[in-house]
Amino acid sequence: MRQRQTLIRLFTEADLRADRPVALTAAQSHYLTRVMRRGAGDSLLLFNGRDGEWRASLASVGKRAMAAWPAEQTRPQPPAAGPWLVFGLLKKGPSELIVEKATELGAARISPVRTARTAAERVKDARLTAHAVEAAEQCERLDLPRIAPLRPLDAVLAAWPTERRLLVAAERAAAPPLATRLLREPSPTSHPDGLLIGPEGGFDDWELDRLRELPFCSLVSLGPRILRAETAAIAALACWQSLAPAGAFDARQQVE
Ligand code: SAH
Repeated sequence: MRQRQTLIRLFTEADLRADRPVALTAAQSHYLTRVMRRGAGDSLLLFNGRDGEWRASLASVGKRAMAAWPAEQTRPQPPAAGPWLVFGLLKKGPSELIVEKATELGAARISPVRTARTAAERVKDARLTAHAVEAAEQCERLDLPRIAPLRPLDAVLAAWPTERRLLVAAERAAAPPLATRLLREPSPTSHPDGLLIGPEGGFDDWELDRLRELPFCSLVSLGPRILRAETAAIAALACWQSLAPAGAFDARQQVE
C-alpha cells in the first residue's frame, strides 16, 4: 500500500500483458528520467483503459528512450460507471479545468457543446485529452473519459439515448436540488445520468423551455447562489459521485 503511493502512474495506448514490453513516448521517457530521476529497474504503474493497472519495470532502449515490462496486474479494469457531462463550451482555461476535474470526479464522457449563448468557438481536442490523461494518472483512475468533439447542443440532444436521464443545472428556475433528486430517484447503475451545464451566460429561456419538454430531461438546482459555469460542473459532479449508487465506484475496494 505504501509502495503504491510512491509509484509513478502513466497512461499508455499499448496493450498490457505480462512480459510484453511497452514502448514509452519521448515525453514519458523524459519525464521519468529527467524530471523524476527514475532509471532501468525501477517500478512504475501503467494503465490503458482496457487491461487494468499493471506494475512494470523500466528498461532503457537506446540513449534516451525507455520501455516498461509489465510484470503483474495490480488492479483489474472496472466497468465504466460514471455520469456523462455535457457543458456549454467556455474559454480555454475554464474548459480545461472542467475536463481535469470531471476526470477526477469520475465522468465517463465529456461533451462540450455550443448553445445559444456560448461565446467560445473552438477547442483543441488534443489539449482536452492531455488534461484528462494527466488527471487520470494523478487520481488513480483506470480509464480516460471519452471526450466528444464540440457539437451543437441540439445534435447532442437528438442523439441522446432516451433511457438515460439528463439532469439540467438551471439557476433561477423552480427546480429541486440535485441531491434531493438523486436521493429520491437514484441514478440507474446500468446507465448513469447525464449532467448538463450551461455556458457563462446561462441557457436562453427558449432553450430551457425546450429542455423542459424533453422526456429524458429534468431541471435541477445546485443551490441558492449563481455559480460560474466551471464551479457548477464541479459541484454537480461532486454531488453526483457522493450519492452514486453503491457499486458504481467500488472497483478498488474489491481488490484492496
Ligand atoms: N449568466 C447567468 C448565470 C449562468 S451560470 C445569469 O446570471 O443568470 C452558468 C451555468 O452554471 C448555468 O447555465 C447553469 O447550468 C449552472 N449554474 C450556475 N449556478 C447554478 C445554480 N445555483 N443551480 C443550478 N445551475 C447553476
